[in-house]
Amino acid sequence: MTTASSANISDKVIYNRPIKYTDDDGSLVHDYRIPRLPTNYKKVYDNEEDFINNLGCIKLAKEQDLDLAMITLGVADTIKCLESVRGRPTQTQYDLFLDNNLTPDTLVHNSEGEVTKKNSGIKHLVLKNRYELKRIDDGSADGKLALIETKTNLEYLPPKYLFDALMQSHLLNHHLSADGMYRYLRKYYSNASRDICRRARNFCSKCNPSLKLGPFKRPRFKASSNLLPFERIHMEVFKIFNDKKNKHGTVEDKYKYVLYFRDYRSRYVWVYPLEDITLGEILQPLKSFLLISCYNVPIYIESTTIEFQFLEDLVKHTCEMYGLKVGCGGGDLKNFHKSGIKKFKELLKGEKEACLNDWGHILMLVHQYNIKYLETVNGSPKKVLLEVSTKNSSGSRNEQYDNKKKRILDALPANCIEKFSGTTGMYYKEPDGTMIAYDEEENDFVGVGESTMLYYSPPEQDINSERTDGTANEIVNSNDINDDESQAPSKKKRR
Ligand SMILES: [Zn+2]
Repeated sequence: MTTASSANISDKVIYNRPIKYTDDDGSLVHDYRIPRLPTNYKKVYDNEEDFINNLGCIKLAKEQDLDLAMITLGVADTIKCLESVRGRPTQTQYDLFLDNNLTPDTLVHNSEGEVTKKNSGIKHLVLKNRYELKRIDDGSADGKLALIETKTNLEYLPPKYLFDALMQSHLLNHHLSADGMYRYLRKYYSNASRDICRRARNFCSKCNPSLKLGPFKRPRFKASSNLLPFERIHMEVFKIFNDKKNKHGTVEDKYKYVLYFRDYRSRYVWVYPLEDITLGEILQPLKSFLLISCYNVPIYIESTTIEFQFLEDLVKHTCEMYGLKVGCGGGDLKNFHKSGIKKFKELLKGEKEACLNDWGHILMLVHQYNIKYLETVNGSPKKVLLEVSTKNSSGSRNEQYDNKKKRILDALPANCIEKFSGTTGMYYKEPDGTMIAYDEEENDFVGVGESTMLYYSPPEQDINSERTDGTANEIVNSNDINDDESQAPSKKKRR
């Protein structure tokens, strides 16, 4: 055991050792004492009491004569708060990782209904993408197995030990403030968020003598913050109302269909009425969308309801005719697209008569949606569409967009690009192997890298297999149009 060499320990090690800190003004040097956590997260205790009594923070709390019931409550409270944060592994999921037993099936069977057969695939993909099990250097001979968040390369603490880490950090360092705890702990742990540090401090009966606890403020999820407005847009054609007999679903006795666009980043929606779904019918509003409505021409357009070949023809045509540079994206985003269509139809619900009489009424409903606060994007779609979307980047939104588009185009393999002689127009296709997928539960995108494109091979199940590049007779996937309202987001594969 003691001879275990460092070869057993992953290259990317985390040193859980005390560190020196200097105050912001450089005046004082502190020893920050870091929490001591179990060397084996798999250790099973006979009962809850045993588990609690073995926590480092309980021992410290006893020494400092603090209210132990509060500390015990803190453990349960932290697990609960953490589980309300979307996209973070729960304790059960953490255990599945530890046992090397994380599969879509085990996720379903261990989630108490939270994960269903339908969303287990994407949930699995999200977890696998964001976390990996590694042996880390915790000072012990062999190191210990722990979950690492791939993005930050920091340890993701098991939910049941998170509070222990927080409270120890508080008690070992002279009742350190919540922000102080956060400042140090975030260097080690990916799930020691500021909110959870603030919450944890309230369970110290010395610092919170009233023992009052407010509700936990769930951190807001920063949806798709790597995407810029107009970077990716999906374009759909579908029936405005799904009347079986087609009699009562025609707006102004003229428009049966809608051409719908939605920006991924902001969720801003544009709609145009269509009498029919022919190329000529769609081309007109597509032109006004690309040439007038978008202040930046989208980098990628995608669709679920329009056959890929047809979409490509439409986009190519506008690029050639008007000198635009637009590409067709290759993500696995059917769920995202369909949820947009569903939401559009929900907007119209209850106002059918007014909508049938006047297309303007539909425009008004979409306008109201666009200017209303949307939690997932942390603002109204309009506000997010118009503002700089990445806080850390400098430059105006147009510069950001231009730079990003240039980077993306520069990185494209030559066989993905088609240039048109005599114009500045250019059509391109997102390369195969690009992975961007939509996680319905989190309402966010997976695999969106800094440059939008991540070239890595898809996992076992080929996530691009549903792409319709074929030469189907139908221009539009009529199945998607007609029964969209009732169908599950991930409908059976066709063809
Ligand atoms: Zn305290």
